[in-house]
This record gives sequence, C-alpha cells and structure tokens, in this order.
Amino acid sequence: MAIQSVGVIGAGQMGNGIAHVFVLAGYDVLMTDITQEALDKAIALIDKNMERQVSRDKISAADKKAAMGRVKTTLRLADLGQTDLVIEAATERETVKQAIFEDLQPHLKHDTILTSNTSSISITRLASRTDRPERFMGFHFMNPVPVMQLVELIRGIATDDATYRALVEVVERLGKTAASAEDFPAFIVNRILMPMINEAVYTLYEGVGNVRSIDQALKLGANHPMGPLELADFIGLDTCLAIMNVLHEGLADTKYRPCPLLTKYVEAGWLGRKTGRGFYDYRGEIPVPTR
Ligand code: NAD
Repeated sequence: MAIQSVGVIGAGQMGNGIAHVFVLAGYDVLMTDITQEALDKAIALIDKNMERQVSRDKISAADKKAAMGRVKTTLRLADLGQTDLVIEAATERETVKQAIFEDLQPHLKHDTILTSNTSSISITRLASRTDRPERFMGFHFMNPVPVMQLVELIRGIATDDATYRALVEVVERLGKTAASAEDFPAFIVNRILMPMINEAVYTLYEGVGNVRSIDQALKLGANHPMGPLELADFIGLDTCLAIMNVLHEGLADTKYRPCPLLTKYVEAGWLGRKTGRGFYDYRGEIPVPTR
C-alpha cells in the first residue's frame, strides 16, 4: 500500500518534529492535540525550525513553503481516520495511548497502519487492544527528529511483513536509517540509555558529584556530546521516569528502580527544558544547575 497521508497524534516535542520531517519528505500531515494552543505552538515551531534549515542552506525557501503547505491541524481525532498511516506521539502513559486508539478505531479506514512513537510501552499490548494488531507497529523516532538519523522499528508479536516493509520504505523516503528491535521493554536505545541516565541521577542523589561535575565527567571522560543530566532535561524528566518504571515493572529487576530524586523532580513539575527547569534552570540567559 502506498502511504501518502499521515496522521500525527500529539503535537509536543516529538509530534512537531515528526510532522516536520514527513512534510519535508512530501507526505501530507494532519496533526492533532487536545488544545488549539498546543497545535498553534507546534506549527510555529516547525516554521521556525525550517527557517533555520533555510538559513543554513539545508533546504530551499521553496521547499519550506511547499512543506508548510502540507501540514494541517485539527482538534478532532476522528479526522485522522482517513489517513494511510497514524503515528501516535502523545504523552508516555499507557492509559492515554490506549484511550486514543480506542477513540480513533471507529473512524479508521480498514487498511490504515497504526503506529506508536512510545519509548518503552509494549507494542504487542497496545496492538492487542485494537482491531488490527497485524497492522500495528512501534515507530520510534529520536529527539530532535529533524536531526537524529535513527528510527527504531518494533514489531509486535502479530505485526505482518507487509506492514513492516511499508514502514521500512517510509524510513527510507525520510532519508533516515531503521534499526529493528524486538518488542521488550524500552527496546534497544532506551534499554541502554535510560539506566545510564538513572545512574547519573543516583550519582547526584548520593552526592558523588554535582550536576556540573557529572555532566562534565561524561562529556570529557566518555566523549559524550551531552552530559546525562543535560540529556535527561532535553528528553523530559517525566518521560525518563515513565521509561524507568516500564523497565522496572516489565523486567522485574531492581537494577531498574527509578532514583527517588528523579521522582522528586517530576513531582515538582521540573520536567526539564519543556517546563523551563529540571537539573538546570533555563529561565535566565544561560542554564544554571539546580543542584
Ligand atoms: P510532550 O509532553 O512534549 O508532548 C506530548 C503531547 O501529547 C502534548 O502536547 C499533549 O498535549 C499531547 N496529548 C496528551 N494526551 C493527548 C490526547 N489524548 N490526544 C492528543 N494529544 C494528546 O512529550 P514528547 O516528548 O513529545 O513525547 C511523546 C511521545 O514520544 C512519548 O510516547 C515519548 O515516550 C515518545 N518519545 C519521546 C522522546 C523524547 O526525547 N522526548 C524520544 C522518543 C520518543
């Protein structure tokens, strides 16, 4: 099946980046969220990010104009039912994602492929609650989507080959590279990355180092482009905690227990860059460590 129209659910950090790369690759995108404000913010951000690409000669002004003309928004989830491919990129909570797929189902055309950009939740379980587990897959983009080359493709137990091949083709058309992962908690990237971030938070919690020394140690000592706490702020601390909980519960191993300090930051609403404060405070001119 040729995919041309794409529905994106959730216009947050990931949703707007996903819409950005799909319209640039020539797909028509219809994006939804729960508030008009979130949709307006996402469109403004896509415009700003594409403008930066124009100024760096990565794309032409005509490419940008054509791409911006291909992204539309709606507050009605049902409107996405007629698209060829749906990418759910809403908040990392299983009940939220389940409710979305349940509400969308009566409006779907029969051959629409359903995908979730979840970082950690079982694809098989999400798929099993829909009418099309064979046309359901994990479609895991990395943040920021326009910059990061990798897309993880996760087949649920029932996903058929045609669906997998269709998504491999989409990844190629986006100019990105696919890595296939089995459907186990947090797949490949976050299975490895999140315990490292969680350990960095434990290192902070136990006073082994402060925010600055921990980030500097990993940047200069392990040649990481970003420190783990800086990276956690970039991802969103609520998302990091949600992934650790999925690993902890899904693999039933205490080595994945989320650090209490991570929980405390999330309880405070200090979720990282997206809320202006996390392990760093972003409200001033330069980020200032909060510990
Ligand atoms: P975010 O908080 O920036 O955005 C989530 C958006 O979903 C918000 O705009 C929210 O209003 C919207 N939303 C919530 N409920 C909704 C509903 N019922 N219908 C429509 N929209 C709804 O989060 P994010 O960082 O963009 O993460 C989204 C998904 O992408 C999560 O599953 C996350 O695990 C995954 N992901 C995140 C990253 C990352 O680095 N942040 C990387 C890869 C994958």
